[in-house]
Amino acid sequence: MLQFNKKLENIKTYEAGKPIELVVREFGIEPKDIVKLASNENPYGCSPKVQEAVRKIISKMALYPDDSMGKLKSALSNRFEVRDANIIIGSGSDQVIEFLMHSKANENSKILMNSVTFAMYEIYARHVGAQIIRTRSQEHDLDAFYTLYKKEKPDIIFLCTPNNPTGDAIDAKEMFAFLDKIDGNTLVVVDGAYMEYAQAKDSSKKVAPKSIVESYENVIYLGTFSKAYGLGGMRTGYGIAHAQIIKELYKLRPPFNITTLSLEAASVALGDEDFVNESITNNFLEMKRYEEFASKQNIDIINSYTNFVTLCLSDRYSSSDIATKLLQKGMIVRDLSGYKMNALRVTVGTPEQNTQFFKLLEELI
Ligand SMILES: *Cc1c(COP(=O)(O)O)cnc(C)c1O
Repeated sequence: MLQFNKKLENIKTYEAGKPIELVVREFGIEPKDIVKLASNENPYGCSPKVQEAVRKIISKMALYPDDSMGKLKSALSNRFEVRDANIIIGSGSDQVIEFLMHSKANENSKILMNSVTFAMYEIYARHVGAQIIRTRSQEHDLDAFYTLYKKEKPDIIFLCTPNNPTGDAIDAKEMFAFLDKIDGNTLVVVDGAYMEYAQAKDSSKKVAPKSIVESYENVIYLGTFSKAYGLGGMRTGYGIAHAQIIKELYKLRPPFNITTLSLEAASVALGDEDFVNESITNNFLEMKRYEEFASKQNIDIINSYTNFVTLCLSDRYSSSDIATKLLQKGMIVRDLSGYKMNALRVTVGTPEQNTQFFKLLEELI
């Protein structure tokens, strides 16, 4: 019998938000009647300029991509005021997390993260057999992080701000004060997948990659085009850090890890600020409706700095039960029972999608 790598034994496969195709097959619902609010995608799609640019270069598909990624790197370095040598681009920021894990951790390592946070940190940590240490509180408590850091001497610390799946964000000043106290041989990852939303809502949450690069040789900032930029299907994310970190990560990068179409899409997306700003404005307008709905229904809602809301249900309901019933009606949301929370994570959709969600949930509670 085939024996596999022992490190894989206890890994649960990452459960992505259910794709629309699956709901069509399982429940026989027409695709047009399915609403997917499960993966924090931009409900307004992506910039029309991106679609046009991708259409224009579609004939280049036969050629390998530009592996220097010159166009996207210069777009990112201009935007964030860093050098090309400070940037690595991954097939989603997920892939950068994978590189980070392999660059620093092994089976003797400890990885420190929040009690509830992005599931991929744990999965990649398990790939290398590292031990996972978690804080206790639901929100990032940097004092608790510091206490565990002193006690456990982790090799990597993950800070997710704003945090997925809860939506809360760390105060930037407090975060920098924390980073100041961490020794240079501990790698700290600041995952800013939803930073575009957070900084628009409250500037005290804004973490600029530039300030990280300028002040720390052991900290990396992660960003992605999958959320505010509406390019989840293009799988493009990035890490920004001191050149020495980037140099090490490059040793792990497979050649041509970003496709020609993705490189073009991300470069053009970064240039269309109006589209992103409009999406963000709409997001927070619609989020108000979720807050009103939750207060009317007596549901606790976590104050969110992202494009999703987390609805904490009372003991009278089970989130997995409600999520299944919503699914049967074509409404895909994220059940958080796997995170030990009796809660639903719902992406803030278009006005129509949200209205539909309110209607269906109201019928169930
Ligand atoms: C979505 C997400 C990512 C990564 O997304 P990619 O599509 O791989 O770029 C990383 N971190 C968090 C917290 C996320 O929610």
